[in-house]
Amino acid sequence: MSLANKLAEERRGRLAAERLLELKEAELSAANRKLGKHAAALQGEIVETRAEVATVKTENERVKTELGQANQKVQIAERRLWHSVQTITDGFAFFNSDNQMIAANESYLAIFDRIDAIRPGVNYMTILQVLTDEGIVDTEGMPDTEWRQMMLDRWMQPQPDPVTVRLWNDQYVKLVDRRSPAGDIVSLGLNITESVRYQQELKAARTEAEAASRAKSAFLANMSHEIRTPMNGVVGMAELLGDTGLSEEQQLYVDTIKNSGEALLVIINDVLDYSKIEAQKLQLHLEPFDLERSIHEIIMLLQPSARDKGLTLLLDYDLFLPTTYVGDPGRIRQVLTNLMGNAVKFTSEGHVLVRVTGVPDLDAGHAEVTIVIEDTGIGIPEDKIDHIFGEFNQVENERNRQFDGTGLGLAISARLVSLMEGEVWVSSEEGIGSVFGFRIPLKLSEAKLPEHPPVPDGLRRVMVVDDIEANRTILQRQLEQLGLGVVSCASGAEALEQLRDIDLILTDHNMPDMDGLELAETIRTRGVETPILLLSSNPSFATNDPGAKYLHAIMQKPVPRADLFARLESVGPVIGANGAPPPAPEKRRMVVLAAEDNKTNQLVFGKMVKSADIDLHFANNGIEAVDLFQQVSPDLIFMDISMPKMDGKEATQRIRALEEDTGGHVPIVALTAHAMDGDDKGILEAGLDHYLTKPLRKPEIHGMLHDMCPDGVKHPFEDAVPNEGAA
Ligand code: ADP
Repeated sequence: MSLANKLAEERRGRLAAERLLELKEAELSAANRKLGKHAAALQGEIVETRAEVATVKTENERVKTELGQANQKVQIAERRLWHSVQTITDGFAFFNSDNQMIAANESYLAIFDRIDAIRPGVNYMTILQVLTDEGIVDTEGMPDTEWRQMMLDRWMQPQPDPVTVRLWNDQYVKLVDRRSPAGDIVSLGLNITESVRYQQELKAARTEAEAASRAKSAFLANMSHEIRTPMNGVVGMAELLGDTGLSEEQQLYVDTIKNSGEALLVIINDVLDYSKIEAQKLQLHLEPFDLERSIHEIIMLLQPSARDKGLTLLLDYDLFLPTTYVGDPGRIRQVLTNLMGNAVKFTSEGHVLVRVTGVPDLDAGHAEVTIVIEDTGIGIPEDKIDHIFGEFNQVENERNRQFDGTGLGLAISARLVSLMEGEVWVSSEEGIGSVFGFRIPLKLSEAKLPEHPPVPDGLRRVMVVDDIEANRTILQRQLEQLGLGVVSCASGAEALEQLRDIDLILTDHNMPDMDGLELAETIRTRGVETPILLLSSNPSFATNDPGAKYLHAIMQKPVPRADLFARLESVGPVIGANGAPPPAPEKRRMVVLAAEDNKTNQLVFGKMVKSADIDLHFANNGIEAVDLFQQVSPDLIFMDISMPKMDGKEATQRIRALEEDTGGHVPIVALTAHAMDGDDKGILEAGLDHYLTKPLRKPEIHGMLHDMCPDGVKHPFEDAVPNEGAA
């Protein structure tokens, strides 16, 4: 090879080597760069890790200090807690679920007088053993084993009830134990000696106070009784003095003495009753009585004042409830009189309804009788209603102030009812009315249900006409219970529209638009001869009305059931007569008017003529006497001579003057205290026919009734035993 070639070849080789070198260098620097990058990344990571390690380290430090602090706190808290537990004067201990003591405070241990055995680890049973063996606890007569058993039984309960134990030194400890869900028990021993003593003192004081109160009531009862005796003397003598021919002024003084005395007697009677009950001296006197009749009698007593106010008195006595019971009729009447009297007193319009219901238990021979008295009166404010059964409590407000009373009536009634083992209640709405009720258990007087007379044949549909819905409802129910169909009408007009297919008509007397008598007349003018019964709260008015001749009978409202049923029976023959005109109404009673201003004398007079079957009206003075004369057309008048407002002589003159227009001459008997010579002349001159001197005597009064009874009128003593009449 030529040199040139060799040189060329060498140059080529060098060039190739140089290129290779360049290549390698490039690769190397690339690798270097990569390495550099990697190193940088590693470096970063190292820095990061280092930072992390540093944080963990500080965190660790913090946790460590916090843990230390917490530990310290726990120790402080525990120390404090234990310190507190130690300082409380009540005993405190923990037990584990195996009933072993874990810890107890000083007070707990002190009870055991630091007996060695009582320390942490001791079992509860050992504690009980020590308590009895060492005489620490006073088991109050219970044998030790029994006491321990009782305490252990209690301890084993899931949640033991607190128990009070008495210690040897007359201290009382109340044990309160609480079991945790894990079974541990926290036991507290509270020293309640103070409050036990206090309670004992209170109890003693209470017993003492009760005894004192009973003594006070007994004293009051005695006093009231003692006051009553001379008061009766005062009232009685004032009454006699009133009849000794006094001047008008003197008469007024005497009447005032008497009326005040009587008012005082009422109050004293209330106080006497109340104190007797309080002193537990009131005894019930049980005897058979007729409850329905008692209520009717009270209604009759209240009827005049109810009528004066235009109030309707209603009685709804459960048809299937017996009426005769064994109880204390006097006391039951007292409660009824009080509740019904209040209802009338506090009601100015509307009605007073007495409802008697009950479920008799014939086998057991008794019944729970519920009597409810409902009125439409002033009602009782809500905030007062809880107090009215208390003593001397009256609702104090404008509307109530007009009524008098002692405020003892309800208190006495409530106590009487509870003495009879019953209960009493009230609900009321101001301005709407009140409902007073009581329930008493009563022994049945006869172990059978009331029997009702059979309904006469042909009596199927009865019409009831009354503007007062309650009245209609009561009658309707009673009649329906007898199996009769009832057509109920609220007015005469309504009745006239429904006259078809009616066997008997029961109509109210007083109704707006058309009254019962007008209705009867209208029915007859239409040629309908259905028998008509008139129910009237003032039968004597009705009797004297020309419309009375259309009536089958007149009955006093509210009608006792027995009377109503008896009437239904009497209707039988009329219906049986099939359209024949009804017989004339039965003879009416003799209407007697007594003018007498003195309530006691009215009472005496009423008592004297009690056995006479008459329709008696009282006038309180001459003016009333003249008014009543026009209203009731009496068959006989007893006229007191000295009366306030208008005396008996003047009243008689006016009556005689009225008779000049109307005709007729009613016999008038003067009642006079002026039994002096010549007096009779003035009396007879005034138009009086006869005179009787006071004090009145029964035979003289009866003699007058007997002699003066006009023909065609039922004789006052027709049903009476002979000899009782005109004596
Ligand atoms: P008194 O009637 O002698 O005041 P009571 O003890 O009988 O005493 O009644 C207490 C009070 O209860 C009455 O004064 C009256 O305020 C209220 N009260 C009782 N009954 C009724 C009633 N039917 N309607 C409204 N208030 C009544």
